[in-house]
Amino acid sequence: DRNLMLDNMKFYDFIHKQILVFIIINLSTAPGYLLIGYFYSSMYIEMLWFVAVLLISLWGYRLRINYLKNDMDVKEKEVWLTKTKFYLFFSSYVWTFMFVVYALQDKIELHYISLVTQIGISVVAATLLSSQKRLAIFTVVNLMFPVLVYFILIDQTYAYLLAFFSIVLSAVLLYSSTNTFKYLYKSQYQAYHDRLTSLGNRRYFIEFLENTIKRLKSKGGFSFFLLIDLDHFKTINDSLGHDVGDMLLIEVSSRMKKLAAQNNSIVLRLGGDEFSIISGIFDDRKKCLKAALSLSQELLEVIKQNYNVEENSLFISASIGVTVLNDIEVNATQFIKEADIAMYEAKHQGRDGIIIFNKELSKKVELKLEIERLLRFSLENNEISLRFQPQINSDNTKSCEVLVRWNNLKLGFIPPDVFIPIAEQTGYIIELGYYILEESFKTLREWDEKGIEFKKMSINISILQMLNVGFIDDVKALIEKYLTSRQISKVIFEITETSLAQSVEELIVNMRALKELGINFSLDDFGTGYSSLSYLSKLPISELKIDKSFIDELRLTQDGTIVRTILDIAKNMKLEVVAEGVEEEFEKNYLIENNCDILQGYYFSMPITKEEFENYFPSSIRKI
Ligand code: C2E
Ligand code: CA
Ligand code: CA
Repeated sequence: DRNLMLDNMKFYDFIHKQILVFIIINLSTAPGYLLIGYFYSSMYIEMLWFVAVLLISLWGYRLRINYLKNDMDVKEKEVWLTKTKFYLFFSSYVWTFMFVVYALQDKIELHYISLVTQIGISVVAATLLSSQKRLAIFTVVNLMFPVLVYFILIDQTYAYLLAFFSIVLSAVLLYSSTNTFKYLYKSQYQAYHDRLTSLGNRRYFIEFLENTIKRLKSKGGFSFFLLIDLDHFKTINDSLGHDVGDMLLIEVSSRMKKLAAQNNSIVLRLGGDEFSIISGIFDDRKKCLKAALSLSQELLEVIKQNYNVEENSLFISASIGVTVLNDIEVNATQFIKEADIAMYEAKHQGRDGIIIFNKELSKKVELKLEIERLLRFSLENNEISLRFQPQINSDNTKSCEVLVRWNNLKLGFIPPDVFIPIAEQTGYIIELGYYILEESFKTLREWDEKGIEFKKMSINISILQMLNVGFIDDVKALIEKYLTSRQISKVIFEITETSLAQSVEELIVNMRALKELGINFSLDDFGTGYSSLSYLSKLPISELKIDKSFIDELRLTQDGTIVRTILDIAKNMKLEVVAEGVEEEFEKNYLIENNCDILQGYYFSMPITKEEFENYFPSSIRKI
């Protein structure tokens, strides 16, 4: 129901402070009337009235304490506000009693007092109640009215003039009060809303979420909360400009707003291209989840529809993370984290999708964070080591691929296809890659000086390393430090085909520079990416590695068509071919028959230590 929406325009916080001001004003001025009563009047009336003021102040004090002590949800706050309005009204109106009492007396001093009292309380009400517009107007009119009547009853020219003045004064009070209200309203609105889309902003979101959670905790029930992030919005912003980006955001917002309103939910903009939707309350978890999913589904569809922005026809999709809010003892931050985890998982799974948060997902993310944290200390804790997997050349000599290993004290052995992507995300790959390179060069030199026979050493290089500004200088320095030119000619850098998708031009420039230094290149995981053949001929590579998945397929289907095709392409382009993941004799034989140059896989050897590699002799497996 709509009442559950947090209405920030109610200024609960503001009005609760005014209670205190009213109490202070009442209690500081009311004793003066006891004094007046003592000198001019009967005293009994004043004492009775003073007791009434005390009681009303006590009432106000309790309302205030109630507000501060109890964590109220919006509904409870509304009830509280209604009571408080009554308190404020009475607390102003109690003065009119004394006004009437003194106005009926003969002594002129008492008339002065009564007038000042009534006009004074009118001014107080106009100023202090301005955040409650209707209450302020009602009270001011009610308080000034007796003054007007008083002057009219005098029935003298001067008194009619004073009556007119009091009307003017009332008008000014009403004007200033509504003006203050407008200003308060506006600044409050701005503090809680996003300028561009007029949706509630992050602050609104946090308060709303906290309120919803409070309500769920006290009354039970379920609510859902969606985190919506547009996919590749940055690209649109960067390529078409911020104006187009802004207009797109406005349009996306209005589509979401419409849909959310139909579903009794509220849309908020958390910043940039990130939005959130918080639902009303359901009494059943299943219903809640079902509603969340169907709304998410509709959102994805609506967002994906074409946008016409300044003659651009645009498309955009979104990724949505879903989490269900319930009465368990979890705070807003935790729920936001959960939705965030789910949303990132949706991004991770290829975007344009919906993921519901679950405990497994959170474990996965926690592990990732733990890896991220511990990885940073892996080098200084000496947890990183290298293995060398033999590659068998057609002349029955050996080469090797360097493979990194991380053995962590707490987490144990973490495979490189888990931690390398994380190192790439955090940037740690630069440091790690440097270490791998240096250790590999040292080993290469050591082997060469020991007279160990080997042809080539392949080192995996991350695309991030390749594109790093200092990389070429680093390699140059390392070569100068460790390798002779004959030794450099044994070095191959492996780059993966999938990484080619980005910044090829830049990559080619760097590859050429490295080639100048004597380094050769191999294209790893060939066949899994989308490089076209024309593109392939532009790359300064001398070797292709057939991806393991094709060798696996050969093993499973006994059909070598793809493998043979790749071998043909490579031969035509005068590239050497490495087959990795060779596990069985049949595969080995097939590859040899089809003139594959280099073989690598468990059939020959697992990745092994430096010492093991030194003592590894390929038995005469290859018949040339
Ligand atoms: P990759 O470059 O494709 O490495 C080949 C992977 O296949 C290695 O896994 C290797 O142990 C495994 N392998 C080799 N022969 C066989 C086989 O016969 N059967 C099976 N099932 N697997 C085989 P590893 O060492 O776990 O490395 C995984 C990935 O991690 C590598 O894939 C590479 O992308 C990355 N990586 C490993 N070391 C480094 C490194 O030093 N630097 C960078 N940037 N990435 C690395
Ligand atoms: Ca590799
Ligand atoms: Ca590979």
